[in-house]
Amino acid sequence: MEGHIVIFPSPGMGHLIPLVELAQRLLDHRRLFITFIIPTAVGATIIPQNDILNAMPENISTIFLPPVDLNDIPDDAAIETRIALTMSRSFPSLRQTLAELTRTSKKPSALVVDLFGTPSFETIKDFDIPAYIFCTVSAMSLVSIFQTPILDKMYACELRDILEPVTLPGCVPVHGSDMSEPLQDKKNEVYNHMIHSSKLFSLSKGILINSFFELEPGAFKALEEGDWCKPDVYSVGPLIRSGSRNQTNDGIECLKWLDKHPVASVLFVSFGSGGTLSQEQINELAFGLEQSGQRFLWVIKSPHRKSNASYFNAQSHLNPFGFLPDGFLERVKDRGLLVSSWAPQVEILGHGSTGGFLTHCGWNSILESVVNGVPMIAWPLFAEQRMNAVLLTDGLGVAYRVKVDENGLVGRDEIDKCVKNLIAGEDGRKMRLKVSELKDLAALATSQDSSSTKSLLNVAQKWVE
Ligand code: UDP
Repeated sequence: MEGHIVIFPSPGMGHLIPLVELAQRLLDHRRLFITFIIPTAVGATIIPQNDILNAMPENISTIFLPPVDLNDIPDDAAIETRIALTMSRSFPSLRQTLAELTRTSKKPSALVVDLFGTPSFETIKDFDIPAYIFCTVSAMSLVSIFQTPILDKMYACELRDILEPVTLPGCVPVHGSDMSEPLQDKKNEVYNHMIHSSKLFSLSKGILINSFFELEPGAFKALEEGDWCKPDVYSVGPLIRSGSRNQTNDGIECLKWLDKHPVASVLFVSFGSGGTLSQEQINELAFGLEQSGQRFLWVIKSPHRKSNASYFNAQSHLNPFGFLPDGFLERVKDRGLLVSSWAPQVEILGHGSTGGFLTHCGWNSILESVVNGVPMIAWPLFAEQRMNAVLLTDGLGVAYRVKVDENGLVGRDEIDKCVKNLIAGEDGRKMRLKVSELKDLAALATSQDSSSTKSLLNVAQKWVE
C-alpha cells in the first residue's frame, strides 16, 4: 500500500534542507508519495532554495502557495514574527490545496511540519489528517520548548535575570540568557506566540527529531519519561544533505582550493544561510583571522546591523568584498579564500583539509560538523543557537565558545586565540578526538538496524498502514 505525505516547511534553508533529506530517506525505505506545499513571501527569492527543490526526485512533487504580503510588518520585527506570519497568512491557501489534493489524488496519511508549522494544526483540524512535527533542532531544544510554559509560570522575571542556571530535564544546565532568543523579552509578541505554539506541540501525533540518542541520551530519556511530553518521539537523525548534485563555479573553486592544503589545516568560517555581522565585527574577524596566521575559508555576507539579515534570501547585498579592511585580501591571499554568500558546506566539512569550523551554531551546521568529525568554534547569533553552543561546549566538549566583550563584539585577539587553539593547539587536538568519537556514533545511528533507522522505519510504517 502507498501512503501520501504532505510536508509544509516554514521559510528558511535550515528547515527546508533537513525536510528534503527526510523525504528522500523515507522514499529509500517505503512506497510513499510525497508533496511539498511551500509558503512564500512577496520579494523573498531564495536562490539556494530553488536549487534544492529543483534537484528533488520525480516522486516528490512541489506546490508553491501564492506569495503572502509582509510589507505591513516593521523592518525591525523579529525573524520569528516574519516566519510565523508567512505561515499563518498562507493557511487559507494551504486549506485550499489540501482540499484539492484530497479530491484529486490520495488523501494525505500525514501532514509533517517543522517547529513553526504547529499553528496549522488548528486550521486543518477538520481534514482529519494526522499531524507530525519534524524538529530541525536538538532534543535539548525540544525539551526547552515543552518546558517554556512551565518556566513562564515559575519565573515572573525575564529569563536572563534568573540568577541560577536553568536545569532542563536531562540537559546540561543553561543560563537563562542562553535560552532561545524569542524567549528573552516577555513584552514582545513573539514571546506569547512561542508559548502558544509550544502548547500546540502536544496536539501532534508524533515528533521526529533530527538528532540521535547517543548524542543527547539525557534529553531523549527525559522526553520519553516526562509526562509533559505527550506525543511519541522518534530520533531519526542525523539527516544531513548527502552533497549537492549541481556544483556552482564558486563551489568547485572552494574544493579545488582545499585540495592544495595540508590535512586538517583550514578553518571553515560560516554563519549559516541567514547570519550576518556588523561592519565593526567583520573588521575584527578579518584582523583576527589574519593575526592567527592560520588558513581559512570564509563564506562572507555584506555587513548588517541585524544578525539574521539574510535569513529570507541567503544572499549578500553589496559588492562581495568591498567592505573588508584595506589590503586584507592581498595580505591573506596565500592562505585565505573568501566566498560570497553561499558555499558547498557539506562537501567542505567532509574535505580532509578542513580542520575546524567557526559556526553560528545552527543545528544543521552542528550535525554536519559532527558527522564529519570537525571540532568547532561556537559563535552563536540568534534563535536557539546560544543553547546549542552550551551543548557543544559544556555538554559535549567539542567546541570553544567565543567571548563577547562589553561592547557586544568578539575582538581580534579573542578570535586569534580561539583559531590558533583549535587548529594548532593541544585543546583543539583533544576536541578533534572527542568529535571523532561522535562521528563514529553518528555513523552507527544511521546504519542498518540502528536506533535512528529503526525509528524512521517505525514512523514510516504508520504512514503506509
Ligand atoms: N549552507 C550551505 N552553504 C552555505 C550556508 C549554509 O550549504 O554557504 C547550508 C548548511 O550546510 C546547512 C544549512 O544551509 O545545511 C544551514 O542550516 P543551519 O541550521 O546550520 O543554520 P540556519 O541557516 O538555519 O541559520
